[in-house]
Amino acid sequence: MSQRRRPLQVHKVGGSCLGSAERLNQVVAVIAGAQAHADVVLVLSALPGVTDRLSALIEASPLSEPQIVEELGTLRAPHQALAAELLADPHLRLQVEEAQWALLASVERLLVGASYTGEVTPRLTDLVLCHGERLAVPLLVGLLRQHGIPAVATPPERIGLRTDGVFGNATVDAGETLSSVGAVLFPHLVEEHLPVVEGFYGIDGAGEVTTFGRGGSDYSAAVLAAVLGADELVIWKDVEGFLSADPTLVPHARLVPQLSYREAAELSYFGAKILHPRTVEPLAPTGVPLRIRPLADPSAAGTTVGQSPHSDGSAARPVVCAVASDAHIGVLKLHGVGVGARPGVLGELTALVGDAGYNIRSVVTAQTCIALLLEAADLQPVARLVRARVGPPIERIELLPDRALVAIVGEGVLQTPGVAAGAFSAIAAEGINVELVSAGASEVAYYLVVSRSDLPSTVGAIHRWVLGGSVPPGAANRLVSPIPQ
Ligand code: ASP
Ligand code: MG
Repeated sequence: MSQRRRPLQVHKVGGSCLGSAERLNQVVAVIAGAQAHADVVLVLSALPGVTDRLSALIEASPLSEPQIVEELGTLRAPHQALAAELLADPHLRLQVEEAQWALLASVERLLVGASYTGEVTPRLTDLVLCHGERLAVPLLVGLLRQHGIPAVATPPERIGLRTDGVFGNATVDAGETLSSVGAVLFPHLVEEHLPVVEGFYGIDGAGEVTTFGRGGSDYSAAVLAAVLGADELVIWKDVEGFLSADPTLVPHARLVPQLSYREAAELSYFGAKILHPRTVEPLAPTGVPLRIRPLADPSAAGTTVGQSPHSDGSAARPVVCAVASDAHIGVLKLHGVGVGARPGVLGELTALVGDAGYNIRSVVTAQTCIALLLEAADLQPVARLVRARVGPPIERIELLPDRALVAIVGEGVLQTPGVAAGAFSAIAAEGINVELVSAGASEVAYYLVVSRSDLPSTVGAIHRWVLGGSVPPGAANRLVSPIPQ
C-alpha cells in the first residue's frame, strides 16, 4: 500500500443513478474525472427497480415456467435497451448482451428449480437477488471500456469479500476479507485498471452468496473502502446529500454539509433513506471519510461524513443537524407491575421477538411498562407472538398502531441544556401530544413517538425551531454546538 502514489477512492453508484443512458454517461464522466487524480474502485448496485422485481419473483414463487419466461423478459428489457442505446461497438455490445443472457438464464434455472421443488429457501432468495448487481456490471464495464477506461469486473467471489453466512442480513468478516481483497485489487490498480465490484453481497466460508439486506451495496462499498485503507468513499446519489428533514414533510429542508459518523448512523437508522444504516460501521473505526455527492451536479460538495461534524474545520453549527422520521411505526406496550425491575423479562422478550425474525427498532422501559417500537407491519404478528408466549409479570398488552417516530439528531444534544425543552415547547405549541420519548440511549439523538397524523406538523415544528431559528416562548435558544473544534 505504501508504494501507491495516488490517492485511493472507492466510488459507489446504483439505483436511479443507473436509470437512463444520460445518467450512465454522467457516471462515466464522474468516474473518468476521479481517475484523473486517484486510483478508483467502483462498486455498483442494481438498475432501479430490478432488485424489487427479483424480490417480487421470489415472493410469488413457485411460478409456472411460462410465467418465469415472461418475467425474465421484463427484467431483460431495461438492460438490453441501455446496452443498445449506449454501446456503439457491435462486438462490445454482443459481449455485454451475452453476459446478460447468461445471467438471466441462471436466474431462470433457479426459479424453475423452485417451481419443481416448491421450496424457496433463504439461500435461493439471496442467490436470485444478487443478480440485479450481477446484471449491472457487464453494462458498466462495457460502457467504461468504450470510453477508454480499462474497467475489469472483480466480483465479490473473486476478491474474497467474506461474510458470516447470514442469508439476507450478512456481516462482512473483516479479518478474512482484509487478507484477500487487497491482494486481488491492488495489482489491478497498479496496472491502472478500474475494478468494478458488485455491491450488496459477499460469499461465506462455504462459498454461498449472502446479501447484506436491501440497500446493502452502500455497506459493501464502505467495507471495501475500510479494508483497502481508501482515502475517501464517494457515494453518488440522485439527491443533493443529507437533508435537514424529509423534503416531502418540510419543503424547505436544507442540505447538511457535514455530519459525524454517529449522526449519519442515527439519521439513516431512523428514517433517512439516503444511506444504508450500516454504512458507517466499517468507516468509523478506520476514519475513512464518506462523501455523498449529487450525480446531477458533480461540482457540488454534497455531504461529508467524518469523525466530527466539524471535520472540515467549519465554524459552529447548530447542535441539532437534522430531524429524521419514520411514518410506519407501531408500538407494543407490555404492562405489569414491576416488569421494568424484574431481571430477565426484557431479555426473554427481545429474544422471543428477534428469534422469530422481527426487528425491534427501539425499546423504552419503565417500572410498569415495556414499550417495543416496531415496524408498523410487524405490530400485529409480534402482538400475537407475545400474547401466546408471555405470562406474568406481564399483565396487559396494548397496541398502538399508526404511529410515527421522529429523531432529533446532533452531536451534543444530550450535553446541551435546552435542546429537549426547546423541541418539546415547539411541538407543544402546535398542540401535538408526544406519546413516548427516548433520551440518553444514543448520545446524539432524542427519539419521540407521535400519532402518524401528527408527523408533518411535528417535524415541521422541530425543524422551524432548530434550523429556522424561531424560538418558541420559554425555550432556550442554545443552538450552537458546544463541541470543541
Ligand atoms: N440492489 C439492492 C437493493 O435494491 C442493493 C442496493 O441497492 O444497495 O436493495
Ligand atoms: Mg440503493
